[in-house]
Amino acid sequence: MMEKRKKFILPEAEIPTQWYNVTAEMKNKPQPMINPQTKEPLKAEDLYPLFAEELSRQEMNQTDAWIDIPEEVREKYKIYRPSPLVRATGLEKALGTPAHIYFKNESVSPVGSHKLNSALPQAYYNKIEGITNITTETGAGQWGTALAFAAKAFDLELAVYMVKISYEQKPYRRSLMQTWGAQVIPSPSMSTKAGRKIITEHPNYQGSLGTAISEAIELAMQTPNCKYTLGSVLNHVSLHQTIIGLEAEKQMAMADEYPDVVIGCFGGGSNFSGISFPFLRHNIAGKTNTRFIAAEPASCPKLTRGEFRYDFGDETGYTPLIPMYTLGHKFAPANIHAGGLRYHGAGSIVSQLLKDKLIEAVSIKQLETFEAGILFARTEGIIPAPESTHAIAVAVREALQAKEEGKEKVILFNLSGHGLVDMAAYDQYLAGDLSNHEVSDEDIRKFSAES
Ligand SMILES: *Cc1c(COP(=O)(O)O)cnc(C)c1O
Repeated sequence: MMEKRKKFILPEAEIPTQWYNVTAEMKNKPQPMINPQTKEPLKAEDLYPLFAEELSRQEMNQTDAWIDIPEEVREKYKIYRPSPLVRATGLEKALGTPAHIYFKNESVSPVGSHKLNSALPQAYYNKIEGITNITTETGAGQWGTALAFAAKAFDLELAVYMVKISYEQKPYRRSLMQTWGAQVIPSPSMSTKAGRKIITEHPNYQGSLGTAISEAIELAMQTPNCKYTLGSVLNHVSLHQTIIGLEAEKQMAMADEYPDVVIGCFGGGSNFSGISFPFLRHNIAGKTNTRFIAAEPASCPKLTRGEFRYDFGDETGYTPLIPMYTLGHKFAPANIHAGGLRYHGAGSIVSQLLKDKLIEAVSIKQLETFEAGILFARTEGIIPAPESTHAIAVAVREALQAKEEGKEKVILFNLSGHGLVDMAAYDQYLAGDLSNHEVSDEDIRKFSAES
């Protein structure tokens, strides 16, 4: 019998030299973002006060399919890229499936997730434009952690507003950020007008992502040489993440296979976009017929139960209006462990693709995701991030369906991160203390009407 190959490793020289911009090849382009005051479509210049200029231009670029990765960024990517493509032989065996299951392992980055793929270029473009300080917010801490590493790599000062309850309950991501030299401020704080207002009105307020965004934006607007950054949802973030799929495409070729199904978990859409868009381009060109499945939590089902419309990207309403599938910007999801997936909306590119049925979405309940996560840990060794277990659960469903149909289908999913800083969630699952959360139709209507 021929021995199955486990890992597909590219040499450093094969790190892609360009990112892929799918909007250039979409027949129906995403609708423009809109300025809520003037109701005019946004131009790149409108974003310059907030984001680095090159990032603002990338955000609006619907013409160039390929965008060069700066040499300095590729240099830093070498710390952990190319990431391995792995054949999940243990999982295949446990499921008794004829399907071939592959996963792209983004958990090997120093911060343990894919978020560094965008944090590095974001820090770089700010640096070369003469910016000295950057700000951001973080909930569970994954984006803040990635940006802390990237800010140090490009010699920038970083201030992270971390939702106060996470700051107190999840101290290890705070420690990671501080180890890489970032200043971490529990939000709400006394350092901004937005923070002082909330603390004065509600002295015991435990914080929210909406407040933390307001504080990070305010500090950026009021500090000379300081800009704001965001780790998901926006087009330029998805662009940077395509390095995942571009590498995976070469690695699948090494395995002499091509995916029938590509799966990613879904928060704001960056890792799903990253693994999907490079393969989607062959569907758009009419050469392939791959399915793309976004896996979202049943407690925050914007793709499967949300509405397609213009909405704000944040709770307070500071951002431009974005055309998106949304549950409404006031939507308050249950406190599930996949903190990175608790976002009310979806990026505008993915939203347009879903509207045009070029991609699919499914929602999964928390217990099924942890079951899949534990099976993966026990067969492949890696303890997945609670977010990533959503992609694994869908891969398992697809593999079991292939078994039923007796089909040798090829499944590829993105392992967006490891769960070693999320063991409290696994403790709860193993103790039988986790439950399923599904939003009621009534709540969906209520939040949608409020936002
Ligand atoms: C943040 C995060 C996600 C969700 O964000 P996307 O932008 O949808 O990719 C998924 N997995 C991990 C490990 C994360 O840290």
